[in-house]
Amino acid sequence: MVKAVVGANWGDEGKGKITDMLGKEADVIVRFQGGANAGHTIVNDYGKFALHTLPSGVFYNHTTSVIGNGVALDIPILFQEIQSLLEKGVPMPKILISERAQIVMSYHKKFDAYEEERLAGKSFGSTKSGIAPFYSDKFAKIGFEVSELFDDELLKEKVVRVANIKNVLLEHLYHKPLIVPEELYQELKSYKEMIEPYVCNVSLYLHHALKEGKNILLEGQLGSLKDPDHGIYPMVTSSSTLAGYGAVGAGIPPYEIRQIVTVCKAYSSAVGAGAFVSEIFGEEAEELRKRGGDGGEYGATTGRPRRMGWFDCVASKYGCRVQGTTEVAFTVLDVLGYLDEIPVCVGYKIGDEITTEFPVTHLLKKAKPVFKKLPGWKCDIRGIKKYEDLPLNCRNYIEFIEKEIGYPITMISNGPGRDDIIYR
Ligand code: GDP
Repeated sequence: MVKAVVGANWGDEGKGKITDMLGKEADVIVRFQGGANAGHTIVNDYGKFALHTLPSGVFYNHTTSVIGNGVALDIPILFQEIQSLLEKGVPMPKILISERAQIVMSYHKKFDAYEEERLAGKSFGSTKSGIAPFYSDKFAKIGFEVSELFDDELLKEKVVRVANIKNVLLEHLYHKPLIVPEELYQELKSYKEMIEPYVCNVSLYLHHALKEGKNILLEGQLGSLKDPDHGIYPMVTSSSTLAGYGAVGAGIPPYEIRQIVTVCKAYSSAVGAGAFVSEIFGEEAEELRKRGGDGGEYGATTGRPRRMGWFDCVASKYGCRVQGTTEVAFTVLDVLGYLDEIPVCVGYKIGDEITTEFPVTHLLKKAKPVFKKLPGWKCDIRGIKKYEDLPLNCRNYIEFIEKEIGYPITMISNGPGRDDIIYR
């Protein structure tokens, strides 16, 4: 049985915590897309961790953590992460890396930074982790697949071919130092030594795991609105953030994904540029940012302050729909306890029309939020374990949003810890 944990919005919805929590019942946890450009924050008995590449299951003894073929594999970052876990007393996790995953090369990160520099004020707000150049190369068929590390002859030829292509851009577009093929070759050799013990035929491994009735958890990064096909193009990431892609990025049959848990945060936040209809500014935003998440809404990878907004029913309904949501985990609700009234975006006004259907980017840019104010509950709800024990206004807030988005909210997260959860 396969379950997916994915995001409904821009990411940072609290998927890490939900995955960590659901990981208790999982045998295998798989990352199927994305790279080290976003982070999951996890708080557990070992401390607080920001994971970028490792699946959130690495803290359990009973799970196998898998990096699927769809991931942008950043080997130095992966090893730094493993090291930081070991330093904090976490036992060495069982890790498998797909032989079909491709490798983020040092030049991908450089190209990312050079492009941001070239675009200057018009940049996409990339985290400069090399993700866009990496996936571009994957689909241009000049990426390095893990399996190719084991074909020395191919590598020696390919480093020259790739350097030739890259160097044209480095010389004429970016005016930066050129790539030396021999250095590329050495980089790849060092990667081979690092990952060799973990490389595996992941799709076959998962095939057997499914046959044996194992529980597999797919862990998504970012959220629906960052999907290259269904998100706010071009302010998107470079690999699909949808549960459906879990089948491709892990190598399992699509019909095996039975449960799709979409994570929605009780308010909105976004990083990078692009339309954000329910965005708030000034002191109102600063207050929410300071109180948000666990220690403020600042990027797990970059430390950048996140853009803040109220809950957006239009974006979340759409975000849940494109995921194929079977249930919603509603997170970070405890943070809203300070508000007398809580605005919720219930529609978009575009020209003279009000819509509740999420539009394409050029219309989204023109959309103005239609807010409805719900009464706050003015108390701390952390520590509450039963739905009935939540204040009435808090339950009203949850039930109002559930009705607007049209998907059942079955889990409510009222704190960053593993046990801060209310099942409904
Ligand atoms: P992810 O990328 O979707 O995993 O989200 P992030 O890790 O970037 O953001 C979630 C942040 O909120 C982290 O700091 C979590 O520890 C924290 N968090 C998760 N769930 C809750 C919750 O219910 N309440 C509070 N206060 N913090 C939470």
